[in-house]
Amino acid sequence: MAQGVCVIAEFRNGAFRRVSFEVASEGKRLADALGEPLTAIALGQGIAAAAADLGEYGVEKVYAVDQPVLKDYLAETYAPVVAEVLRTLQPKVVLSPASVDGKDLSARVAARLGAGLAQDCTALQIEAGALKAKRPVYGGKALAWYEWADGTWPQMASCRPNVMACVMPDSSKQAAVETPAVTLPAALKTRVVAVEAADGKVDLAEAQVIISGGRGLKAPENFALLEELALLLGGAVGASRAAVDAGWRPHAEQVGQTGKVVTPSLYMACGISGAIQHLAGMGSSKFIVAVNKDPEAPIFSKADYGVVDDLFQFVPAFIEEVKKLKAAC
Ligand SMILES: Cc1cc2nc3c(=O)[nH]c(=O)nc-3n(C[C@H](O)[C@H](O)[C@H](O)COP(=O)(O)OP(=O)(O)OC[C@H]3O[C@@H](n4cnc5c(N)ncnc54)[C@H](O)[C@@H]3O)c2cc1C
Repeated sequence: MAQGVCVIAEFRNGAFRRVSFEVASEGKRLADALGEPLTAIALGQGIAAAAADLGEYGVEKVYAVDQPVLKDYLAETYAPVVAEVLRTLQPKVVLSPASVDGKDLSARVAARLGAGLAQDCTALQIEAGALKAKRPVYGGKALAWYEWADGTWPQMASCRPNVMACVMPDSSKQAAVETPAVTLPAALKTRVVAVEAADGKVDLAEAQVIISGGRGLKAPENFALLEELALLLGGAVGASRAAVDAGWRPHAEQVGQTGKVVTPSLYMACGISGAIQHLAGMGSSKFIVAVNKDPEAPIFSKADYGVVDDLFQFVPAFIEEVKKLKAAC
């Protein structure tokens, strides 16, 4: 009989991504509610040494597949391996990060297992021994609750990054690590040739602070202001589609319905009107600050703090204040 919660951890560039700890923390909460164990599956290269650390977040046992061919995420290699381990493990509930790779992987694994999957969830709970999941729908205009039909296995959900609370790691706890015997695909149709990382930049999807700019920035060189502020606050720069379409910023920075969905602790929108398609990407941020010279701009309806001002006056003054505060600390 299916038992327990299993989380799929994401390991990149020699370390687990933060969202893996959020998913493990959420998994622990659900496992406790079920009174059943929490396990994890981790794939990658050089993973064996780090795997036990997932125990700090409540994972009892990690099934670690450490292979050179798994160094970079590739659906072709990851999906069959994860599905095979899950078939052996038979967990009741499977959680994964709703990152770009995580959504791709969980959809493919669900298809292989014939499982039901709720993607990009913002809340999960156990009711009468079964999973219930909440996720935004219609570009964030409504919230829907999902449950799984009786007898479907496993109940799969992916968790939106930066939403689920991450527990304080308990360094006295380590997970047991097991290496399952798996069959890697013999002949691959594709392979990762190179991964070009944006050096030194905070990943938008994982950023706790995002300073975003729109058409109100007027020219690409003016984004230097936002970059300076983002650097001071340890954050990343985001952009509206208008700024991306104008060629001012790369598409990787676009926030919104056709860009990235982000949930930082602080989202600062500068010179962005707040079109519904932009709000769909940042509306779940914990604190939203809007800087816009038009007091009627729709972004103010979503903002926790609104600054009605010319951003070219406000942002430099704000940067000076942040510098003073940092110097005083
Ligand atoms: C199918 C579809 C998908 C889309 N997907 C996305 C998406 O993923 N992301 C996205 O962002 N958009 C998306 N859009 C586009 C969206 O509808 C808006 O056109 C876009 O978000 C507008 O960008 P903006 O706010 O930068 O520009 P604008 O709407 O032109 O707003 C600029 C703002 O800057 C303010 N401003 C100007 N000068 C200053 C100044 N000096 N100081 C302070 N404020 C100033 C203005 O008052 C104004 O509010 C999509 C549209 C469609 C149809």
